[in-house]
Amino acid sequence: MKAEIITIGTEITIGSTLNTNAYYLAQKLFELGIENHYQTTVDDDAQRLKDVISIALNRADIIITTGGLGPTKDDMTKEVIAEVMGLELEHNPEMEKHIQDMFTRIGRCMSSNNRKQATKPEGSIFIENSVGTAPGIYIYHKEKKIIMLPGPPREMRTMFENHVKDLIQDDYIMLTKSVNTVGIGESSLESRLNELNLAYENINIATFARDGRVEIKLIGKGLSRQEIERDMDEIIARLNVEFREYIYGYDNISLEEVVVNQLMQKGLKIGLCESCTGGLVSSMITRVPGASNVLDRAVVTYSNEAKMEELNVKSSTLKKYGAVSEETAYEMAKGLMEKVNLDLVASITGIAGPTGANENKPVGLVYVCIMSKDRHKVIKLNFNGNRIQIQNRTAINVLDEIRKYCRDFN
Ligand code: AMP
Ligand code: MG
Repeated sequence: MKAEIITIGTEITIGSTLNTNAYYLAQKLFELGIENHYQTTVDDDAQRLKDVISIALNRADIIITTGGLGPTKDDMTKEVIAEVMGLELEHNPEMEKHIQDMFTRIGRCMSSNNRKQATKPEGSIFIENSVGTAPGIYIYHKEKKIIMLPGPPREMRTMFENHVKDLIQDDYIMLTKSVNTVGIGESSLESRLNELNLAYENINIATFARDGRVEIKLIGKGLSRQEIERDMDEIIARLNVEFREYIYGYDNISLEEVVVNQLMQKGLKIGLCESCTGGLVSSMITRVPGASNVLDRAVVTYSNEAKMEELNVKSSTLKKYGAVSEETAYEMAKGLMEKVNLDLVASITGIAGPTGANENKPVGLVYVCIMSKDRHKVIKLNFNGNRIQIQNRTAINVLDEIRKYCRDFN
């Protein structure tokens, strides 16, 4: 089954609305394992919409449209689709009553325009819209499935989740499972993945990279849930061996959740001193419920003065080695460790750019010090990317270092 997404609306083609519907639907189709090769966007023009629908009918089995189902004149999706497919439009009194009741409930009058929303192509069925007035429409005609959804993203998503998934899934069972890794680049992960030769007919394996993490996604599709689960378990067992040191969790768990859970399990209290990340690491940690059990404090020491006053970094160290140096990272961590009774301290100092670099210290150079009561290590990192990417990648690396520390702690 091949699908095509058609997003309809002049607001999209002129760039006043970001096409989040196409983005959402593409992700959902991918998760469902439905092939989707085309996304088309067309403005509110009857002839062009007709062309787009005709083309899609020739190359896809499932067509999902969004937009143009409202009551106004520029909303014409179902009229055009009915025409292209040679179907009459029929009025549905039940739907009219339903819409009428909705307006009564919210204390507003139904305009004559809204009657238009109670028509549908012959043989089609309405898809309930529990969060708005425009119902969706489902046509199954000549082995093609056409699903028309309203434009407002919240209505579109609610209808997709509640009804459309079932309409397009058929008898297939779809299962997805994610193996989340950190600390290995996507290309080297992929080539090692290829060498494993995991050729399973029912299961598609894809990788997705984001700020130093790579998700290995397994998408299983078939008629037997048992078979898919068995194959997935086999694949995951192989991945666990191959990528053991990089795997931090499965499915939706985030790295920061894993870190907080591990700190909690090991009963460790942590403190952070951040410079170039400006509190990002502590912000990520505090997003996780239960963070107060593990995070004692985080200090953002951005200036040299702050590093000296808050963390007792020596002025001579800053002068001799600079704020972005192994020595400063070490003294930052040591300063907090000596001040507060903590099990673990992580300090971060680096150049997020675009300014602040010199010939010896490029943008993206970051030093991280991980210190416990009896040992410490300073890690030198080099990142590419813009300021935000460098900050994000640094934060992920620091979380990974904390994760590894907890894993090896006993
Ligand atoms: P419509 O159903 O065509 O009347 O669309 C109603 C509203 O939904 C538009 O004004 C947009 O704000 C929003 N909308 C329509 N299409 C999209 C889309 N592809 N992505 C995001 N929002 C959309
Ligand atoms: Mg519109």
